[in-house]
Amino acid sequence: MTNPLLSDWTGPFSLPPFGALQDDDFAPAFEAALTEARANIRAISDNPEAPSFANTIEAMEGAEALLDRVAGVFYNLSGADSTPAREALMRDLAPKMAAFSSEVTMNRALFERIDTLWQGREGLGLAPEQARVLELYHQMFVRAGAALDGEAANRMAAIKERLAVLSTAFSQNLLADERDWFRPLTEADLEGLPEFVVAAAHAAGQERGQDGPVLTLNRSLIVPFLQFSPRRDLREIAYEAWVARGANGGETDNRENAAEILRLREERAHLLGFANFAAFKLDTEMAKTPDQVRDLLMRVWAPATAKAEADAATLTAMMHADGINTDLEAWDWRYYSEKRRVAEHDFDEAALKPYLSLDAMIGAAFDTASRLFGLEFREIDGPFYHPDVRGWEVTRKGKHVAVFLGDYFARASKRSGAWCSAMRSQKKLGGETAPIVVNVCNFTKGAPALLSYDDARTLFHEFGHALHQMLSDVTYQFISGTSVARDFVELPSQLYEHWLEVPAVLEKHARHWKTGEPMPKALLDKLLAASTYDQGFATVEYVASALVDLEFHDGPAPSDPMAKQDEVLAAIGLPKAIRMRHATPHFAHVFSGDGYSAGYYSYMWSEVMDADAFAAFEEAGDVFDPVTADRLEQFILSAGGSRPADELYLEFRGKMPGVEALLKGRGLLEPA
Ligand SMILES: [Zn+2]
Repeated sequence: MTNPLLSDWTGPFSLPPFGALQDDDFAPAFEAALTEARANIRAISDNPEAPSFANTIEAMEGAEALLDRVAGVFYNLSGADSTPAREALMRDLAPKMAAFSSEVTMNRALFERIDTLWQGREGLGLAPEQARVLELYHQMFVRAGAALDGEAANRMAAIKERLAVLSTAFSQNLLADERDWFRPLTEADLEGLPEFVVAAAHAAGQERGQDGPVLTLNRSLIVPFLQFSPRRDLREIAYEAWVARGANGGETDNRENAAEILRLREERAHLLGFANFAAFKLDTEMAKTPDQVRDLLMRVWAPATAKAEADAATLTAMMHADGINTDLEAWDWRYYSEKRRVAEHDFDEAALKPYLSLDAMIGAAFDTASRLFGLEFREIDGPFYHPDVRGWEVTRKGKHVAVFLGDYFARASKRSGAWCSAMRSQKKLGGETAPIVVNVCNFTKGAPALLSYDDARTLFHEFGHALHQMLSDVTYQFISGTSVARDFVELPSQLYEHWLEVPAVLEKHARHWKTGEPMPKALLDKLLAASTYDQGFATVEYVASALVDLEFHDGPAPSDPMAKQDEVLAAIGLPKAIRMRHATPHFAHVFSGDGYSAGYYSYMWSEVMDADAFAAFEEAGDVFDPVTADRLEQFILSAGGSRPADELYLEFRGKMPGVEALLKGRGLLEPA
């Protein structure tokens, strides 16, 4: 039997042969791919010829082609559709992949070749993109510890291997806690809930093999439950279960994992000559230093808490009017905030949903991309990796651009949240390779599936990331698509959300799923007027998380992260009825890998830019202005990491942004 992961993919668009894949194929495919990658790397480092860009950097670009292909499929599946076999393989692979990556970056002969090229870069006659790729390879090796010797080098390898194991454990514990907790709901418990929440609870019960409706910790179910359930006792139980993820004691408790991860990160930074992990991490980001990050967050913190405290007083008064004469608690906020929104904006989420069917919102995201960038979308047949997944061929002027997969529905085998990944990245070296891009979300299933406005925003957000991958136009995979500084990567996604708020887009696409009627003008106006509603709360819960993440890493590693978390929150004065958006034991951004460690601030850093970038369209007098759209594609969406982020932004906009557009966009700037 040939392993379909290892044979050539000759089907349409060279998609992975999803229909033929068996879980048993992955382990041997990884073995073969790792063996091949090792041989390729050895051939480069042992090459008797003097190093050249072609025989070293370009050879590196192709060395892990098979591994990329296998890993691209596997890691997407393990996040979007995990099985016990896939989870076991993931645990097994974590140390192996980390060991391989260490082997490459700690390969002294290889580093010396790259270093020789780097030292002599002026004389190599490199094109700008090549010079950038060389710089980034050199930087990656130095930051991985390639310049370390002896004991320090060994310790670095051991730290990285242990960190990989710990972050995998962190994710799996979280998934287990999310999967294991549910609470059956009686008829009385459903009182006051809108129909869509009741339907979602029934669907969740069915999926868990229960006779009746259940409440789960899935964000798409628990958030509306907290918004709508008049049962304060149930809200408290649900909320406490939700925020206890990763902190339930026993085998899935993440607190000790978090402490060890922080200790190891600090040690790693010290080995590389940095004062602490935040200084190391931010050195290659647009923000550059912890002080720059703290400065941004604190400039937003003061107006955000002022707004949130004022809102808390209003909500407390509403609760007292209900005869509940205690303090407003975290499980009360969403409920009274929803009531206040209905009262003040005379508009409720449940009335909106029939106009926001999943199909209509996919259509809106596609149509916006057509108007801005001339892209066209044609649905194609699977099989893909799960029956819920849909696929489209993306073309422009008849030319193939990408395959886009949409995996929109929540299921127990999917980790929570929403994300975009490239199963295959765009590149031109060795022949044009078109990307395969996946958006994964956790929307509630239905017939038809109806989204909340928040869900629709998530769909646009992830599609913005997808555009960054699909419109990528670079030679080297190393800098393709979203391979940019972490605090720049959310710019395309958050910028794209702005088009959902364009009245013309909603007027055209937000149509009642049954009647096809457009959203009534009054409802549309209210929706748009409400877009800054409760931003005090949203900003506070986010900035609190971002500051805790920063302080965890900017200084000595805390021996007790939970105590450190409390200390940071007390110092900034977190309003009593608001908690962190992600508390430490389930702060996957920070502990399930290194992506957003000392980097959770990135969303806000990007928001400073997205608010300013969308203003460029508004200033042009047309939110679909073709000249501005061209500049956006040329300097940002197609450019990947081919130049430093601040240079790309300056080219696009002509100036760097301040924090005002962000405060204005969130309704936190009091008009003068
Ligand atoms: Zn994002």
